Amino acid sequence: MIAVLAGGVGAAKFLQGLVRVVNSSEIKVIVNTADDIDIYGVHVSPDIDIVTYSLAGIFDEDRGWGIRGDTFNFVENLAKFGIENWFKLGDMDLATCFYRTILMKRGLSITEATRRIRKALNVEVDILPMTDNPVQTYIETDIGLLHIQEYMVKYRCEPSILGLEFKGIEEAEATNEVLEALEDCSGVILCPSNPIISIGPILSVKGIRDKLREASYPKVAITPIIAGAPVKGPADKFMRFLGVEVSPYGVAWLYRDFLDGLVVDVRDSFQTVRIEGLGIKALTTDTLMKSIEDKIRVARTALNLMEIS
Ligand code: GDP
Repeated sequence: MIAVLAGGVGAAKFLQGLVRVVNSSEIKVIVNTADDIDIYGVHVSPDIDIVTYSLAGIFDEDRGWGIRGDTFNFVENLAKFGIENWFKLGDMDLATCFYRTILMKRGLSITEATRRIRKALNVEVDILPMTDNPVQTYIETDIGLLHIQEYMVKYRCEPSILGLEFKGIEEAEATNEVLEALEDCSGVILCPSNPIISIGPILSVKGIRDKLREASYPKVAITPIIAGAPVKGPADKFMRFLGVEVSPYGVAWLYRDFLDGLVVDVRDSFQTVRIEGLGIKALTTDTLMKSIEDKIRVARTALNLMEIS
């Protein structure tokens, strides 16, 4: 079994390739929940939903979030009542979040709610929230303290970053399901996700990073940075804020205490020597995932790297 650490969009693309080359029952995905937000009376878990919808084949690839063919009657009608509606939650998406919310109100964990949702959507891959405790990313900016969704969606990542906090992380415990996955797996893959705000919170949950440091199985990552920039999203802004080079070398540096291998994009092949200087093996391929063939190629390269690491 392979354990995969995942954020949203970059992870979802990679997983679509991985399920074509590894049996779904042999994959457990540990997903960031620090992007979660309680809004419109429901609990939205953006990374879990992106991963679930894409594995269910219903993800809206063009828009980059939500369910294909969704409508937005609910959020649009909120405006009539003067309710702020910057978070564009589709109607079908709302049904998922509503179901999650009622399960959690009944006292079920988000792990159990996620299991029921993915089963209802016929997703065989086990999707595991990183923790059952609430963790929320807040960004201190030049216009004030913003929830990660406000920063990304409402303000389109424009405010300057002055600080970063994973609220609740000290109290957050890794679930038994996550700890078992990290114990029983034959290797770990870190998706090409934002290393600071998607993978960062997972690694910050008590016990997870230590487990990776101690484990003897191979741990490999795929770079989310190609030719000095992320494919999508604000990874560069967060890396710069922390003084980390915006490059695959910077990604390797962030994971240097446990990582064995990094899949680097062909456009950055000149960086492999420096990365190997950190004691991390590097394999290059075109990591830009547009077609299903691209996604399969990146998944195969990560698996090859696991074998030689
Ligand atoms: P988010 O929570 O939805 O932002 O999801 P992630 O953290 O999983 O995804 C954002 C990261 O995915 C960004 O840093 C992107 O650079 C990376 N990413 C998205 N698409 C691709 C791709 O096709 N190839 C690679 N190598 N990285 C990608």
